[in-house]
Amino acid sequence: MIERKKVVQYTNIIDLSLKLHNDMAVYPSDPPINITQRSSMPDDSVNMLELNMSTHHGTHIDAPFHQLADGQSLDEFPPHKFVVGRTLKLDLAPEEADPNTNQKEGVLYRQLITAADLDTYTERLAWVEGVVLHTGYGRVLLKNRVDRDYPRLDIAAAEMLADFKNLKVIGIDSLSVDAMGEHKVHHIWFAEPDRWLVESMVCLDQLPLSFTLCCFPLLIENADGSPCRAIAFCD
Ligand SMILES: [Zn+2]
Repeated sequence: MIERKKVVQYTNIIDLSLKLHNDMAVYPSDPPINITQRSSMPDDSVNMLELNMSTHHGTHIDAPFHQLADGQSLDEFPPHKFVVGRTLKLDLAPEEADPNTNQKEGVLYRQLITAADLDTYTERLAWVEGVVLHTGYGRVLLKNRVDRDYPRLDIAAAEMLADFKNLKVIGIDSLSVDAMGEHKVHHIWFAEPDRWLVESMVCLDQLPLSFTLCCFPLLIENADGSPCRAIAFCD
């Protein structure tokens, strides 16, 4: 007799992705995104968009190859690696201003993530494969701001997360995990193989403490990164 497979029912599915459009916030030194209406038919009978964009526009994955010449590209990861069953949200969005916070567009956010911010989560971090850092900056990204003062990790925080060998992915609601023009945090994280990052996530305030994270990149040859649809499946 064939056993019926159980279908997992999720009560809550949360979209953590930015919509791609021409006025969206992009990393300050990146080329602009340009989406134009084209038609491949001689009589203009179909709609077809042409996309001119980088692999790091919008909510996207960074592969080790983005930073390391001999690092894995995204097409070298099997697809199941992009389903992260046990993901923990770290709620770092500030309730009041302090030296590591900043404010833009009326939104208060944590600009510098330090090891002290991670301290209360160390026990739980040992049991998960993914971690998502909620800084509050996602609300600035949704307002299409372009900014150099986006949230980032300091070196001690990056080393602390990298030391959890069980962790395979860091997600963040910021343009990068590193300060503008720097690569140190990326290098610390990618020192271990099979790791990736998701940047420019949004709506992290809606997440529960733990959930399943799915982020599928486009299958592009030698991809250093790719836009992705980041989705949380919550019990
Ligand atoms: Zn990136």
